[in-house]
Amino acid sequence: MTTIVQAAYIVSALLFIMALAGLSKQETAKTGNAYGVTGMTIAIVATIAVALKAASAKGALGVPASIGLIVVAMAIGAVIGLWRAKSVEMTEMPELIAILHSLVGAAAVLVGYNSFLTDKGLEGALANIHSVEVFLGVFIGAVTLTGSVVAFLKLSTRISSKPLTLPGRHKMNLAALLISAGLMVWFVASGSIVPLLIMTVIALLLGWHLVASIGGGDMPVVISMLNSYSGWAAAAAGFMLDNDLLIVVGALVGSSGAILSYIMCRAMGRSFISVIAGGFGGAPVSTEEKDYGDFRETNPTEVAELLKDAASVVITPGYGMAVAQAQYPVADLTARLRKRGINVRFGIHPVAGRLPGHMNVLLAEAKVPYDIVLEMDEINDDLANTDVVLVIGANDTVNPSAEDDPNSPIAGMPVIEVWHAKEVIIFKRSMATGYAGVQNPLFFKENSAMLFGDAKERVEDILKAL
Ligand code: NDP
Repeated sequence: MTTIVQAAYIVSALLFIMALAGLSKQETAKTGNAYGVTGMTIAIVATIAVALKAASAKGALGVPASIGLIVVAMAIGAVIGLWRAKSVEMTEMPELIAILHSLVGAAAVLVGYNSFLTDKGLEGALANIHSVEVFLGVFIGAVTLTGSVVAFLKLSTRISSKPLTLPGRHKMNLAALLISAGLMVWFVASGSIVPLLIMTVIALLLGWHLVASIGGGDMPVVISMLNSYSGWAAAAAGFMLDNDLLIVVGALVGSSGAILSYIMCRAMGRSFISVIAGGFGGAPVSTEEKDYGDFRETNPTEVAELLKDAASVVITPGYGMAVAQAQYPVADLTARLRKRGINVRFGIHPVAGRLPGHMNVLLAEAKVPYDIVLEMDEINDDLANTDVVLVIGANDTVNPSAEDDPNSPIAGMPVIEVWHAKEVIIFKRSMATGYAGVQNPLFFKENSAMLFGDAKERVEDILKAL
């Protein structure tokens, strides 16, 4: 039985690695998902078998009770999971991911306490190692739990996305870490629940504070950081439950989340350490009300004329395209323009939208060919030779003040330099700011024109005019 389960775990682990490899490219993402689902199914069946074997060792009553508990728990989880998967809007995905991370954190805390209360038979070095596992598992889990809840609240605009800047915040974070280290020594030496309880409260506050002190523009990195934390929390739970697969999967999630965070930090011109330290050296916020001058307004007929005369067009989508669900008419517009022999390409910023890869998923859904969807670095040099750029619901990711204004909260973040093109058309509903809450001087440039209204309706109007 143990051998079969171990073999199943190895197969699952391999399938998870293949899933990650598949998910790293759009062309193979679906196959990657299928590997992941298969791996998870095998893992669940094997884990249930392990649980039932452990239950049968406890006597006849154990097995039916365990089956009952597993079925009830899985049924509740499946109902909630199916309902959310069916009802969630693509734009709400980051919030959903954040709240799911908080569940992983909560699970690690509960597993830690359960493991502390039930595993009493260990002695000597083994008992010490187990205590360290419990302590670290609860610590990482608690930080992930409250950090993810704050990320959820910020992303769903239930609380302001502005960074919380308490005086001496870095010292407080450092103190929390040092006190927790001291509590771990006390916990390992005494085996008392008191240091564990005190540390749990400190870790819950630390998670809350770390994410609360990160500003709106840096949230993408926080989400992938929390993804990484949730992986390490799961790995810690794997050690406590003595489950090899959970350790492997947790480490895979933890390290891939850390790599993604690093890539996103680089893409956004942020220091990795400063983000994980919680808004360390946060960029100064410009408070002065600047007069940017006047903006020009255009209409769908004029834009259609501009497009007809263009030889090359670049589309830079952002969060607004997701809100409006404009990807389908955008795909139609792309096909129509390409038929006329116009060179149409997409320029995708790494943090456009509200989750990494958000725009790529939407464009793939609308069947836009992958080979014309380019990354920021691939498109930036070509913009000077572009006739028309259509900025569809993007704002922060095309904001020149990231380059020109060192006091801007998004200073240093590389952006798509759309203003180098001959004409820039900006699709949005008003002059409101984007996620980072800063005004965009692009809207007031001479070669920019605003096309107000819902992005989907405006693109459909252009299609009609064409
Ligand atoms: P922004 O959030 O900067 O701007 C989106 C724009 O879309 C707004 O200016 C809004 O203007 C417009 N808009 C909203 N709804 C519609 C609609 N129905 N029709 C037309 N326009 C609409 O978007 P970007 O994609 O440029 O930037 C992403 C921001 O989100 C960055 O600051 C990034 O750091 C942050 N972020 C990214 C995450 C990621 O992982 N990608 C995660 C968390 C945050 P108006 O209201 O006037 O219509």
